[in-house]
Amino acid sequence: MGAPGITGRTRPTKTKKQASAQKRKREDVDTEKLEQAVAELDIKNGAHKDFSDLPLSEPTKQGLKASHFSVMTDIQSKAIPLALKGHDILGAAKTGSGKTLSFIIPVLENLYRLQHVGSDAGLGALIISPTRELAIQIFEVLCKLGKHGHMFAAGLVIGGKSLESERQALTRMNILVGTPGRILQHLSQTVGFMVDDLKMLVLDEADRILDMGFQRDVDAIIEYLPKERQTLLFSATQSKKVSDLARLSLQDPEYVSVHAEDKSATPKTLQQNYILCPLEEKLDTLWSFIQASKKSKIVCFFSSAKTVRFVYESFRHMQPGISLLHLHGRQKQGARLDVTAKFAAAKSACLFATDVAARGLDFPAVDFVIQVDCPEDVDTYIHRVGRTARYNREGRGILFLAPSEEEGMLQRLEAKKVPVELINVRQKKKQSIKSQLVHMLFKDPELKYLAQKAFVTYTKSIYLQRNKSIFNIKNYDLEAYAASLGLPGAPKIKFLKDDASKQKKQQSRQQLEVPESSDDEADQLEKKTAKPVRTKYDRMFERQNQDVLADHYKKLVKDDDDDKNTRDEDDFTGATGATKADDDDFMTVKRRIPADGEEEDQQEGQDEDSTAPRGKMIHLQGASQPLIVDSNRREKLLKSKKKLLKYMDKGRKLVYDEDGNAHEVYELENEDDFRAKGLPEEQRQKFIEAAREVVAQADVEDKATAKAKRKEKLRKRKERERAGHEVSDGEDDEDGGVQIPDTGEDLLANFRADAEYSDDESEAEIVDEDEGKNKKKAKKWFQSDSEDEERSSKKRRKGKKSNAPVVQEPETLEDMEALAAGLLG
Ligand code: ADP
Ligand code: MG
Repeated sequence: MGAPGITGRTRPTKTKKQASAQKRKREDVDTEKLEQAVAELDIKNGAHKDFSDLPLSEPTKQGLKASHFSVMTDIQSKAIPLALKGHDILGAAKTGSGKTLSFIIPVLENLYRLQHVGSDAGLGALIISPTRELAIQIFEVLCKLGKHGHMFAAGLVIGGKSLESERQALTRMNILVGTPGRILQHLSQTVGFMVDDLKMLVLDEADRILDMGFQRDVDAIIEYLPKERQTLLFSATQSKKVSDLARLSLQDPEYVSVHAEDKSATPKTLQQNYILCPLEEKLDTLWSFIQASKKSKIVCFFSSAKTVRFVYESFRHMQPGISLLHLHGRQKQGARLDVTAKFAAAKSACLFATDVAARGLDFPAVDFVIQVDCPEDVDTYIHRVGRTARYNREGRGILFLAPSEEEGMLQRLEAKKVPVELINVRQKKKQSIKSQLVHMLFKDPELKYLAQKAFVTYTKSIYLQRNKSIFNIKNYDLEAYAASLGLPGAPKIKFLKDDASKQKKQQSRQQLEVPESSDDEADQLEKKTAKPVRTKYDRMFERQNQDVLADHYKKLVKDDDDDKNTRDEDDFTGATGATKADDDDFMTVKRRIPADGEEEDQQEGQDEDSTAPRGKMIHLQGASQPLIVDSNRREKLLKSKKKLLKYMDKGRKLVYDEDGNAHEVYELENEDDFRAKGLPEEQRQKFIEAAREVVAQADVEDKATAKAKRKEKLRKRKERERAGHEVSDGEDDEDGGVQIPDTGEDLLANFRADAEYSDDESEAEIVDEDEGKNKKKAKKWFQSDSEDEERSSKKRRKGKKSNAPVVQEPETLEDMEALAAGLLG
């Protein structure tokens, strides 16, 4: 069962029948005794220090001995006795404190005592891990411990192999280790995969399993499993999701939290430091650090697979003098296995990794964990740093923090009992690799592409971070960061651009809101006028990658280029300055009449040959610039007055005073006359007062008319009521009486009734609104703003209907048509 494969077997493959029969007999006796010893085991005492103090089976004892495990860790001494007795457990203990054995020993023992063994026994225990690497590692520990006499068939299902090959093996398994997705796939698809008799379910790194979005898978897996089972959940950090899961799936669980009272949430043997390192200096610092620690075993964490790849590839090219490895979720399964095995076996090496490697992995003797990109939360920090200082060994963690991340991150670390201390980088020893990177990127487009990708994903990850008090994209110098990766400039990023344009819009809105009399208005104006005015066409020409107008634009550009060419040639042939002056005038003076494409092209060809305009020049009346007519076709076009209109200057609008004198619409007063009338401010005041009076007067008149109208309406309504007129029709059809009556008389009556009804309704609506004003303000809890809006817009629509033109006494057909049109809106 040694090497990791899909399956493992805890017994020798060729056992003689006789021998196995004897063994089973012995085991039967063995289990009875064991059963009794476990029943008598005192769990309150906590006196069990060594594995030898526990009632364990012979094969397990052998396994522990072979691995030189004798003294139990805290979590082991508390959790194992409880688990042996069949309790459900929610276990929390620091990284590297031996949680794996805390569940593997009970799994082996409990199944052993039940003799849940053999291909017909079905699955007895299921162990779920969040990552493939961790699943493999758990499986290895299981095999190592179990291969000294246990007879279980154990399997590993983590994907990356064909489902079919796994299927056949699965049906015979007693213990299975795997990742949630793959396990669920087998549960739902593999016929003969029996879990009805499952005795134990284990979730290692339970909070991570739930955080990684596996909650649904886990829920679905639990659905398949029998309710009568033992469940063990383990993690170094606990989240709400885990306690939720514990509440739902554990029965009277024992909470085993061995380090809850400790001063720090991280191992005591771990020395933790941080350095202040602006984003743009990260790579220099990392490179210099690696150069100074070539004999060490280092794990460096980054936030994305793309950054890992870029740093790995670029550092590799620079021959760092230490073997480099990289591990991320986008690698193929084989490569991932290879890397973990290599790094585990290496004496000194540097592994660049994403958080795939942050959980649970037990690489022996890691000296340093460098967190190059700041972790998104403290739990991630704890798990990353937990790859070193495992099981009482020494280890060091170094966190790179950008100055803007320092305060927020330190607060959070402190709150979760993680002690980190600031250290400084020796600037003298720091090497800059920027020019090397620039050179490499210049030579290798693929590396440049990787750098761009790394830049974009990093920026995006910062932008998407939930905790804006630590990660705010505005606090990073992105241009400098791009330069530090060896890039010639920061790649354009869409979401940042969108943000910038939003901001611009907001700013311009704010500017509009600034009161007009502000002091620096003149300055602003000056600034504005200093800029050349950009027209719609300028913007169109600046646009790229758009086909609209592209042809036209190309022609213009071509003309321009051709001009340049001819100019260059001219220069070469010693042309005079006169031609140059003509060229400069080209766009402004020469106005060409657009003709059909063919001719235009011909014309263009001609134009290319000569820079001076050919043909006649015609001065159109009303046009400030002459037109050049250089072909018969153009001359013909000239006969059309309508077409020529386009080439004339626009006319001016004049107004005539009472004496019949013409004036411009807006005429500027003579400055002296203006000054003679008094100070500008006084004049302004006077004008405002006069205007206010006019408005007030108009207001009074408007109100009076409105009042009169209302009275008239009221009077009419009362009259109607007195006449006992009943409004019944139209009530069922708000859309304006679409029913079409048979006779002309009926039609008339209906129309009238409708008109009156809609009138009434609108009035009632208004009254309602006034009465219910206070009511309306107290919005119901379930009522959204949009609902509110919708309602008011409905009202508006209804209001509109009431404004429909009402022909008082429709007599002719036209009258009726007008009325109908009005009612139908
Ligand atoms: P955790 O899951 O808590 O992070 P692991 O179970 O991976 O920790 O164990 C960390 C390391 O400690 C492993 O290398 C393991 O072999 C070792 N270890 C665990 N228990 C013991 C023990 N009782 N005695 C000696 N070493 C142990
Ligand atoms: Mg673990």
